[in-house]
Amino acid sequence: MDGLVALSQHLSQLPRMLDRAGSTHALVTAEHNQRRKPILAGAFGVRQTVFQRMLCREKRHDARPRHILAKISHEVAQVIFFLRTDGAVGEKHERVLPRQTPDCVVRVDPRVHTLAGGELGARGSQLCCEHRGTRPERGEKIRGGHRDGAFTIQCTTVTTSLTFLGAAGSVTGSKHLLDLGDHRILVDCGLFQGLKELRLRNWAAFPIDPSRIDAVILTHAHLDHCGYLPRLVGQGFRGRVFCTPGTRDLCTLVLPDSARIQEEDARQANKHRYSKHVPAEPLYTAIDAARALDRLQPVGYNRPVPVIPGVPGIEVEFINAGHLLGSAYARVRIGDKSILFGGDLGRYGRPVLPDPTPVTEADILLVESTYGDRLHERDDDGERLARIVTDVAVRGGRLIVPSFAIGRVEEVLYWLKRLEDQRRIPVLPVYLDSPMALAALQLYTGRIAELDEEVRPASRLVTAFYTSRTVTIASVQQSKDLVTSREPAIVIASSGMATGGRVLHHLDAALPDPRNTVLFVGFQAAGTRGRVLCDGAKQVKMHGQFVPVAARIEKIDSMSAHADAGEIMRWLSGFVRPPSMTYLVHGEDGPLQALAGRIASERQWPVHIAKYLERVELNLS
Ligand SMILES: [Zn+2]
Repeated sequence: MDGLVALSQHLSQLPRMLDRAGSTHALVTAEHNQRRKPILAGAFGVRQTVFQRMLCREKRHDARPRHILAKISHEVAQVIFFLRTDGAVGEKHERVLPRQTPDCVVRVDPRVHTLAGGELGARGSQLCCEHRGTRPERGEKIRGGHRDGAFTIQCTTVTTSLTFLGAAGSVTGSKHLLDLGDHRILVDCGLFQGLKELRLRNWAAFPIDPSRIDAVILTHAHLDHCGYLPRLVGQGFRGRVFCTPGTRDLCTLVLPDSARIQEEDARQANKHRYSKHVPAEPLYTAIDAARALDRLQPVGYNRPVPVIPGVPGIEVEFINAGHLLGSAYARVRIGDKSILFGGDLGRYGRPVLPDPTPVTEADILLVESTYGDRLHERDDDGERLARIVTDVAVRGGRLIVPSFAIGRVEEVLYWLKRLEDQRRIPVLPVYLDSPMALAALQLYTGRIAELDEEVRPASRLVTAFYTSRTVTIASVQQSKDLVTSREPAIVIASSGMATGGRVLHHLDAALPDPRNTVLFVGFQAAGTRGRVLCDGAKQVKMHGQFVPVAARIEKIDSMSAHADAGEIMRWLSGFVRPPSMTYLVHGEDGPLQALAGRIASERQWPVHIAKYLERVELNLS
């Protein structure tokens, strides 16, 4: 036929658009490159050979318009009309709808193709939404009909949007909802931690019905990025959860453990009646956690995979972020555009984990800002840690190290072993009072290929990380005995921000004694006991009671797993072209402002600080 073509610019989305019921019609044919033919053929439900004939320029092969009438849903991203270039019809250039105009009228001039106009005209009643007597799901978006003697199709530009459901103006609760119109993808599903007003968000109704989310993507297995997943599943999410194998492995530890802590907290609250709610309920249970684990879909690094079954053109690829075993940036591709969800960014030149992988481009970028206003203290080759350990040994006290069970323990042990091997600290017993940390260590040694090349342990045995007197504590009774013991020692226990876990019992016993030292080795979010202690509190509330603080409180930032401002800027400098927008997430107000200022002034990139529940439209044109 003499061709008049209506194609979605997002060709990859065409099949689902064509599939939708209650859609309108438009003529489709084109001279188009080979790459697109399979998509289009699939979209029209014809064999490729038939489709080839449909596209063929020779008139003898031209198909009648009715064969190539395609249904295009009311959510057309952008309609482009191509006119054939064989001179048989009209002009020779493309006409593209201006995206800035939300509603566009595209004229299909009957003079260009009378048959096309007639065919469309005959279907006018089908084209007009109001004639169908039903309301389209997202409002009337397309109408067809005659106007000024020409046939018209009115389209609305589809918008891809991002809604920040967490880690926006705070460092916990990472959740970013990517809305593609027909499909929704949640990137990260983290628990809010710290301040009560933040934690209460875990209990609030989820902003959208979880059953309407098609898939979840996890950047890594820290609770503030995956810890809400059991709750989401408990509320009806039934899609797949994409993550790296390392993240899957760690999730099998952290999610059941988190459920256990939730259940234990509820039990304690009921027992001691320090909850306003009677009875206190856990946020989620071990069963919810098990169901969440069932949904995990591990995908190796650097292997793009489709996110939504049956929907081509939407892919995710994980890239090693060097922040934790299995940690990744998630690059989501929509057609030929990409959104890079930075997750948490690792550090350069640190032991155990590799440097963050350089990234050269993304159309939209989300980057964390945890330390956006600070530089970590310079690597002092363990000097401060050596001094802290030695001081405690001299005082005959204990060194309590609250540590994230996954991610930090390896580095703490690495340094203690190194200092001990170099005889820079006295040999003290090192108690690892965290069964989960031990299990995580085993996972680390099981995936040594993903660790920093220079410090890969010589063996796959977990003892490769141990000092000469490392003792692992398994049972609760052993842990209780350790708490009551006064033997000088180093005790590593979780959680890292002292928000829960066995470390609370150690702190309860150790804080009132000035011989002891508590050493924090990771970021301490506002509102956590860790932050309160680092800020110099004279007492801290634990298990419903205030405990006086006489022990020394120390903090070593250089062991943080998060990039500092300089490292974030170094990573951004790898981009060869600026993203059209960079969203700053995962930070508190000061760091967010500071990093936004640096990105704007040093790189001249457009930058935006994400706000909680803010919805932004993504410019993917
Ligand atoms: Zn993290």
